[in-house]
Amino acid sequence: GTVFVSGATGFIALHIINNLLQQGYKVIGSARSQEKVDHLLELFNNNPSLSLEIVPNIDNPEAFDDVFKKYGNEIKVVLHAASPIPRPSTDYEKEYLIPAVEGVKSILNAVKKYAANSVERVILTSSAAAAQNSTDVVSEESWNDATWKGCQTDSWNAYAGSKTFAERAAWEFMEENKNVIKFTLTTVNPVYTLGPQAFSDKKFASTSAYIEQIISSTEDNITPKIAFWFVDVRDVAKAHILAFQNDNLVGKRLLLAADTFSYQDVLNIANEDFKELNGKIPIGEPEKADALTKENKGLLDNHKTKELLGFEFIGLRQCVDDSIKQILEVKH
Ligand code: NDP
Repeated sequence: GTVFVSGATGFIALHIINNLLQQGYKVIGSARSQEKVDHLLELFNNNPSLSLEIVPNIDNPEAFDDVFKKYGNEIKVVLHAASPIPRPSTDYEKEYLIPAVEGVKSILNAVKKYAANSVERVILTSSAAAAQNSTDVVSEESWNDATWKGCQTDSWNAYAGSKTFAERAAWEFMEENKNVIKFTLTTVNPVYTLGPQAFSDKKFASTSAYIEQIISSTEDNITPKIAFWFVDVRDVAKAHILAFQNDNLVGKRLLLAADTFSYQDVLNIANEDFKELNGKIPIGEPEKADALTKENKGLLDNHKTKELLGFEFIGLRQCVDDSIKQILEVKH
């Protein structure tokens, strides 16, 4: 069967495409420009099972029409991973909310219009941010209670709002169209996603930059000081694929989270496992690592997702070790 992946250039999407090709699927990906298409074809050595299409911006209702007009009757599975990720911006509506929501609506409508007889499963890359609020434990049932206006305070809140409204739009579409469509929806809601990039690159896309930034910090300016939950990007990719292969996952929100972590854990592992980095990277306050993550343990509960997926998530040590190996490789 053929799988369509939007946002093929992304940190997570590249791992997904790699896995799909390894498992023998034919893949059609979308990227924003010819330059990006060419770069991807080169990365995948012009693999004949991979085709790429240009979808310039997902901020309009017809964004995906052409792709689905062209390939509608061969696509069996749609993975929608494209969505704006946090970057410096203040036009929150234009930069985050509209593309995130329109992207979801336009891809679902394009499937309905042009691929209704062939597409069986749609998998949306949502986020744990769509499940986070100030009172509930984050779980498969919890929802971010952000409002359209209220979330436009800073990049992070606008991003979290964009993921929330986009996921809501998807479930609403499914409800409104339940009598006229046969495809099903599953959402994948990862927490902060760490781990190596699918292809070694000096540029660190999205949250793959985090470990590099932490070990490039100075002792008196360790940044960003994040302490929450993480999941390894390789598990995020794996879950996207199981999401459409496993019938038990239809209609579910899969909350992907391996464990709590903090910048201090990353520094501790880096200093313990890479002696060549000792003295070159900060030490921080090694004994504070436990305290930083302890209180976060109770903030999230994804035992249902773990049971449904049935595989063991990669732990922080392996995630950090593999990431640092790749960082050292591209820096030399
Ligand atoms: P990347 O920035 O690496 O990937 C984002 C992808 O979306 C890129 O292909 C990007 O294209 C595309 N994109 C962004 N804005 C637009 C737009 N306006 N029009 C068209 N395409 C657009 O980030 P990730 O791989 O981390 O993110 C992939 C998905 O995973 C997103 O939906 C994100 O919200 C979600 N996610 C990520 C988490 C994380 O910690 N990384 C955690 C939870 C969810 P281009 O390369 O051209 O910019």
